[in-house]
Amino acid sequence: MKIYLSKFKLIIPILIFIIYGFTACQIIPIEENSQMVSFSSTSIDAFQTNQSFTITPSIKKTTTKTPTQVSSFTPSPSFTPTITNTPFSLENFSYNFRPNEVSAQTYLETCSYLANRWGEEKSIPGTIVVPIMYHSVRQSGRPLQDEMQVSQEYFEYTMEYATKLGFETITTEELIGFLYSNDPIPQYSMIMIIDDRRLGVVDDHFMKYLDQNDWTVTLAYITGVASEFEWQEFARLNVNNRLDLQAHGFLHNAETYITENTSTEIIEQELYEPISIIEEKTGRKPSAFIWPGGNFTTESVQMAREAGYEVGFTVYSRGPLMYNWIPLGSTEIKVSDPLMVLPRYWSNSAAIYLEKAVEISTKAQEFAEENKAKEQIWFQNYCKEFQNDSGNH
Ligand SMILES: [Zn+2]
Repeated sequence: MKIYLSKFKLIIPILIFIIYGFTACQIIPIEENSQMVSFSSTSIDAFQTNQSFTITPSIKKTTTKTPTQVSSFTPSPSFTPTITNTPFSLENFSYNFRPNEVSAQTYLETCSYLANRWGEEKSIPGTIVVPIMYHSVRQSGRPLQDEMQVSQEYFEYTMEYATKLGFETITTEELIGFLYSNDPIPQYSMIMIIDDRRLGVVDDHFMKYLDQNDWTVTLAYITGVASEFEWQEFARLNVNNRLDLQAHGFLHNAETYITENTSTEIIEQELYEPISIIEEKTGRKPSAFIWPGGNFTTESVQMAREAGYEVGFTVYSRGPLMYNWIPLGSTEIKVSDPLMVLPRYWSNSAAIYLEKAVEISTKAQEFAEENKAKEQIWFQNYCKEFQNDSGNH
């Protein structure tokens, strides 16, 4: 047994190193402590077999005591990496997206996540946000010119269907509170984002529904080319605070799209120049950056963070958002910051995805209930430093 163990202790740090490279976005924190690793293995076995699992108060991350080995514990090639370094593996809710390139990414460490997961002051598990990208709404009877347009009929159908399903809108600020801290929002939420400078679309099509339902719409605005007349229109339409003004670049044109070839000066202009303008027009700095033309790079995502943006949106249609659960494709996964590359459904198929979101929400809620006890045990034993912040566990 001793020989096995010493070999095992050598193997584990290597395994941790290998695994960590592949699971940087997962919520499982890695302990570089072989004592911890050994202990963990015993409790996994105990938990999984449901035998004699006891919560011992002396269990601490910093413990130097060598834990007792249970007789069933035998290191072997089948000992899989995912359970080597945590008390026991906490499963995440998974959903098979199509195409299967898309997968839900986590972005919080397990303890930060669990600290806000349950509680009366929090969104209930299964709370979901559907982001929808709008451009123009084509007047009834006129043919669509491109796939970014939506017919008036489908637009109205989407609004009515959203109401029927029980969706409410949220602002960027509410979205950030939800994604970062699970702050309460309606269980079925959507954030409708109109790109570019389309106050006419707001006035002609959206405002009726905003007023009827007490909703808001987010404007991804190109601030550098807006005229004084537009700002007057903005102020007129925003009289009831229904418009959530956010940044969509300064000039947003062929010379300023953010690609690998764009100069730092131009990227900084597109990111920074909108901030003071939006603050002047609304009294608040923008907190969302909607990537102009959908283009972004790893470097520009980091620069957007430095500029103070807390979320970003692409033009990729991937899936709905939940707390610590962002569906992304391989292009966005590469930048390693899910919150800065949030997906958006397209307006011409939004209604189908509202329905899909309700289905995902229901499954996520069921999953959460089934896993609640495990999550609480995990939190109680391995998140001691978080427990004063949250009286919910
Ligand atoms: Zn645009």
